[in-house]
Amino acid sequence: MKKSFFIFLLCNLFFLTAQTDTKIIETTQIQNQENSKLIEIKKENLPTIESLLPSRSNLVFKEYQSIIESNSKALRAGREPEIIFFLYKNTEKFTFQALAARCCITQETLATLNQIDNGQQDIKNKELILPAVNGIFIPSSEEKTLNSLETLLQENYLKTGNQILTKNNFYYNINGRNYIFLQDKRFSSIERAYFLDSALQLPLDKNAFWVSSEFGKRKNPFSQKEKNHNGIDLAAPEGTPVYAIKDGAVYVCVPNDNEFGNYVILSHDTGKTTSVYAHLQSYTVEQYQTVKKGEIIGYVGQTGMATGPHLHFEIRQGGKPENPRQKLKLDEK
Ligand SMILES: [Zn+2]
Repeated sequence: MKKSFFIFLLCNLFFLTAQTDTKIIETTQIQNQENSKLIEIKKENLPTIESLLPSRSNLVFKEYQSIIESNSKALRAGREPEIIFFLYKNTEKFTFQALAARCCITQETLATLNQIDNGQQDIKNKELILPAVNGIFIPSSEEKTLNSLETLLQENYLKTGNQILTKNNFYYNINGRNYIFLQDKRFSSIERAYFLDSALQLPLDKNAFWVSSEFGKRKNPFSQKEKNHNGIDLAAPEGTPVYAIKDGAVYVCVPNDNEFGNYVILSHDTGKTTSVYAHLQSYTVEQYQTVKKGEIIGYVGQTGMATGPHLHFEIRQGGKPENPRQKLKLDEK
């Protein structure tokens, strides 16, 4: 490494430490939290780790590793750890799990700090903040744009008058978003299951269908008017089994709707995600019953407004329709 870069690095570390001291301010922005400290972190001020590969390890990475090690010693000895962050761009194409393992940081720490809501998420070329201490970052209640994992965490920690929040916690503003940091906290078994098991089952066997209409704006085949298509149409022979994409409960089953014919809506993750299955020949579930991922819930038909047998499938996050092509990873089919 060049000497000048090393000096730059030292300055950066010094700057960061100094900044941490001065930015620890008694906050009035976060309500009802006495003795809380708001620490501001900006990506552009963080020291950058160029490589995590052993053969190309650089001094910044070594520095990072030694801070992590001394932090775990400090915690074991009951001392305060040094909370510090680094920046890394994943051009080396680590998977999420491999990256967490390489950094010796828990998956929940890395995931919650970087808005990653499932363990299978593709993080190639993603810019990530690497922390030097473990815990869970929860967006504070004024943050409204949340991924589904964050929604779950907010529900579990912020809305139940959870004891943990009355302690002396750290508050962070990271790139403009406010977080509460629960040091050393791990995912509960439910949160872990949610994080690891978010790969969805396809609603039809992968060889049984072709996409006959995409998500988004299209001309309604009946009225010829431009309309938003909130789902994707999967053309398949009448009677093809339709599967629940994920564990959940039957929110509603509707027979003979003018538009959707026989249709079923499932609710997943305590209602944060819903999936819609329409134009069914018939359904095999009842309202409020629970369903397992992969369970048959009905059969493809052409009931309601349909020009041929197909499944109209929708997935909604917090009520907002999302493109099922990405959610179901149809491009990798
Ligand atoms: Zn449709």
